[in-house]
Amino acid sequence: MTNTHLKDLKGIVTGLFLENELMSKHTSYGVGGPVKAFIIPKDRLDLINILKFSNNHSIETHFIGSGSNILFSDNEIDGIVISPLKSLRNFSISNNTIIAESGVMLGKMVKESIKNELTGLESLIGVPGTLGGALSMNAGAYGSEISNHLISVKMMSMDGKIKGYAKNQLKFSYRNSNFKSNEFILEAKFVLESDSIENIKARSKENSSSRKENQPLRYRSAGSVFKNSSQYTAGYLIDNAGLKGLKSGDAQISTKHANFIINHGKAKATDILKLIKIIKQKVFDKYKILLELEIKTLGFKPNDIEKINV
Ligand SMILES: Cc1cc2nc3c(=O)[nH]c(=O)nc-3n(C[C@H](O)[C@H](O)[C@H](O)COP(=O)(O)OP(=O)(O)OC[C@H]3O[C@@H](n4cnc5c(N)ncnc54)[C@H](O)[C@@H]3O)c2cc1C
Repeated sequence: MTNTHLKDLKGIVTGLFLENELMSKHTSYGVGGPVKAFIIPKDRLDLINILKFSNNHSIETHFIGSGSNILFSDNEIDGIVISPLKSLRNFSISNNTIIAESGVMLGKMVKESIKNELTGLESLIGVPGTLGGALSMNAGAYGSEISNHLISVKMMSMDGKIKGYAKNQLKFSYRNSNFKSNEFILEAKFVLESDSIENIKARSKENSSSRKENQPLRYRSAGSVFKNSSQYTAGYLIDNAGLKGLKSGDAQISTKHANFIINHGKAKATDILKLIKIIKQKVFDKYKILLELEIKTLGFKPNDIEKINV
């Protein structure tokens, strides 16, 4: 990305534009090197202009929500990162229908649905992140996934046009979706079912307590690092490979939940990556199971992540 492109782009953005911004400031891991610009568009018009500009000038463009499921590399990314956080957050509930923009926090959606005696989202209580990130990841917990009650999604393509997708035009599976990486998730519509507030609150309380009991919530992390295999949970495999508590720099495999890697403060992406590689190798050696990452990675070379000696 040339300096001229950076300057011209800065000139058209009406929202937040942070030059040479460290992604460590925008991820729950607290890890990540600089990007040429981190941008939070002010509104849809701002987003249209940013996407068109970056499309016309072939600028490397990435989308994130609150960065609670991403490991950014320590290296510079020669492009821009766009987030709707604290900006695109229109939200409405009418009867059983919720319409929310991608910058709405999942926690708000859960709280509002409970308040309105609607069931379907309460098991996601405590999952950090935005609606956009949750849809992209098909976030889920305690047997329920964000896509379960989804009706439709609006996306913005790089030419600034808005496209609508009904749920049956999309594919969701365990922590996975098939949204195109060059389309920005703008808004989604859900229809939930009614239930008594006592029932809904009881379920959300149970899930919330279980989360507090089993997860290292006092530390910075990105939640579960690996997907569960079809036979065993990733946490079980990592624990039984004797890896709980293993450290690399300021990164550590949590002693509370083996599928969490925590940052004690000064961890680098390379520290976390080292633990990821050790986990993959040791679990493979012991169980012949190749764990697949649940977290997304950005700014690495393919070999940085995939290469283990199998
Ligand atoms: C303590 C902790 C507990 C967690 N527990 C759970 C859990 O129980 N279940 C679970 O599923 N996850 C869990 N997570 C992971 C994470 O919170 C979820 O995946 C969350 O939905 C990610 O949202 P985000 O906004 O932070 O997305 P990000 O991490 O910012 O992004 C995730 C992905 O979504 C894409 N994306 C984000 N926004 C957009 C957009 N507007 N348009 C297009 N693409 C977009 C990004 O490119 C990236 O690929 C946990 C994380 C932590 C830190």
